Amino acid sequence: MGTLGELTGQHFDLIVIGGGINGAGTARDAAMRGLKTLLIDKGDFGGAVGWSSRLIHGGLRYLEYFEFNLVRESLRERERLLSNSPHLVHPLQMTIPIYRGNKRGPQLVRLGMVLYDLLSFDKTLPGHRMLPLAPFSQLFRGVNHNRLRGAAQYFDAQVEYAEQLCLENVLSAQAAGATVRNYTSITRLLQPSEGGVVERITLCDLLTGEQVELKTRETVLINTAGPWVDQVCQRGWQGDHPAPLSPRPLMGGTKGSHIIVDPFPGAPTDGALYVEAETDGRPYFIIPWLGKYLIGTTDLRLSGDLDEVKASDEEVDYLLDETNRVLPQAQLRREDVRFTYAGVRPLPFVEARPAGQKPKNSSITRSHILHDHSDAQNGDISNLISLIGGKLTTYRQVGEELTTAVYRKLGRSVPPCPTRHQPLPGAINYTPQALVEAVARYRDRLSVASLQHLFSQYGTRSWDVLALVDSTPALAQSIQPDLPDIRAQVVYAVEKEMAKTLIDICFRRLLLAHRANYGRDALASLVETLQQHCGWTQGECDRQLQDYRHYLQTHAIPDYQLAIEGQLTREGQLTDKSAAVN
Ligand SMILES: Cc1cc2nc3c(=O)[nH]c(=O)nc-3n(C[C@H](O)[C@H](O)[C@H](O)COP(=O)(O)OP(=O)(O)OC[C@H]3O[C@@H](n4cnc5c(N)ncnc54)[C@H](O)[C@@H]3O)c2cc1C
Repeated sequence: MGTLGELTGQHFDLIVIGGGINGAGTARDAAMRGLKTLLIDKGDFGGAVGWSSRLIHGGLRYLEYFEFNLVRESLRERERLLSNSPHLVHPLQMTIPIYRGNKRGPQLVRLGMVLYDLLSFDKTLPGHRMLPLAPFSQLFRGVNHNRLRGAAQYFDAQVEYAEQLCLENVLSAQAAGATVRNYTSITRLLQPSEGGVVERITLCDLLTGEQVELKTRETVLINTAGPWVDQVCQRGWQGDHPAPLSPRPLMGGTKGSHIIVDPFPGAPTDGALYVEAETDGRPYFIIPWLGKYLIGTTDLRLSGDLDEVKASDEEVDYLLDETNRVLPQAQLRREDVRFTYAGVRPLPFVEARPAGQKPKNSSITRSHILHDHSDAQNGDISNLISLIGGKLTTYRQVGEELTTAVYRKLGRSVPPCPTRHQPLPGAINYTPQALVEAVARYRDRLSVASLQHLFSQYGTRSWDVLALVDSTPALAQSIQPDLPDIRAQVVYAVEKEMAKTLIDICFRRLLLAHRANYGRDALASLVETLQQHCGWTQGECDRQLQDYRHYLQTHAIPDYQLAIEGQLTREGQLTDKSAAVN
């Protein structure tokens, strides 16, 4: 990635604002179909994918709201993802225990299952089955048997490294000719005095402060900024005064939190549990994930800062209590929580209603909307489309639709869409045989666990990581004795995956933060590797360490834990944002 200034004078057919999964998927689709594309994100690539439940699912729950189109579309995309990214997306068995008193009884669950199977008539995964009480109790001994009536089982899919799914879309877009830049924010979208079009934009490199202005009269702007869509629209200007690009709010995101715990007594050993919470009747998941369990999610209105969202103590307690209720041997306590995270769903804005008539958050549509600002009531801007909504599962479809819309706006004929069938980079030539070959070639230098880990995270991109080990044998060293990750991955993240910060490396490239002590045990060897092999200076590393600790406080470590670590005042304020948490 060169300097921002290198963009000066360049023309793009399409500028995608926001490199979450929908922006990344759109940039890939557009670049592969021949559009000159620029993708930017104000932070690292990934957006909310790392805060999601990491499920590639049809959304059984959406059937309750008659969102049949969404479920069908999601199930079709699930199938495509299983086929185009088999290194990252795997089938996952889901089990729904059904209790007397549940909002959803056996008849309703069975109906949902039948519909789900019908809507995925072309699937490769097995269909559902209903389990009567006796066989289910035999299979799932850890599940609370009190008032239990039986269970339903079906298949969905899981993407353990959701961050990599997003990144591979970015890398694929780049390989197809797109210019991609993280830490690059759009700060101004300027209309002429007569309005009607965004004729210039200003971009800012948030790491260097460099700014550049681009002409965009002949460019389509796609606003895939997720929950920040409105903030991007607010950056509209006309002449020398602010002029928001949308006359009304578009987004009304809700917050969802997860906790991660180590394996515990009674935990499901065969797939995930999908449980109706006793407290509020909401369904939530207990999902095996990277040798641990991911439990979530909540669904709450968000009012605070979109950039500092974290699981509250109440949400953690809710998830612990509900898990202990359905799996009584678990006896999970706050001390058992290894990591927490929270994200914001980019849902459509819903008008507040009179008291007592508030729509339930879970009932707000999860379908996506391409919001074309060229309609008079949408702001009358010819070259801007904002995406409202859009799940992780359906990102490719969204990218296809947005690219087609861009072609139409540019008045060009629409070429066929390659992303329906084209494998992601790590899936090219991917077969289980690749791992066997790697074990034969590297077993004197790397453990089988490390090699397995590489192939499950990078697919055939693992060969590029292993090439680093060939050229610099010291990079075969592990980062931390109890984890399979090796130092070559750090160099790969910086050199080939555009990681710019320790947070990028620990949270989105190697997922070290999630797996042991918030990544803190890995920091020393990471810093050593970055200094020795990536040219980072001591001063740079010190700054990065400070930022990392602050990010842990504001995104991952629950407040009760910070209090234990002595970092909170009695009023709940962070005592020293930069120095806390060692
Ligand atoms: C708790 C939770 C659980 C979920 N679980 C699932 C699941 O299991 N399966 C599923 O399919 N979906 C799930 N989802 C939904 C899914 O994760 C999101 O809908 C999806 O990731 C949104 O992607 P996006 O690209 O539209 O937006 P985002 O991921 O939010 O990305 C928007 C990007 O825009 C960038 N941006 C903002 N402002 C600017 C600016 N001024 N300039 C440049 N860039 C900017 C941001 O930095 C961000 O990276 C879940 C969501 C949540 C919150």
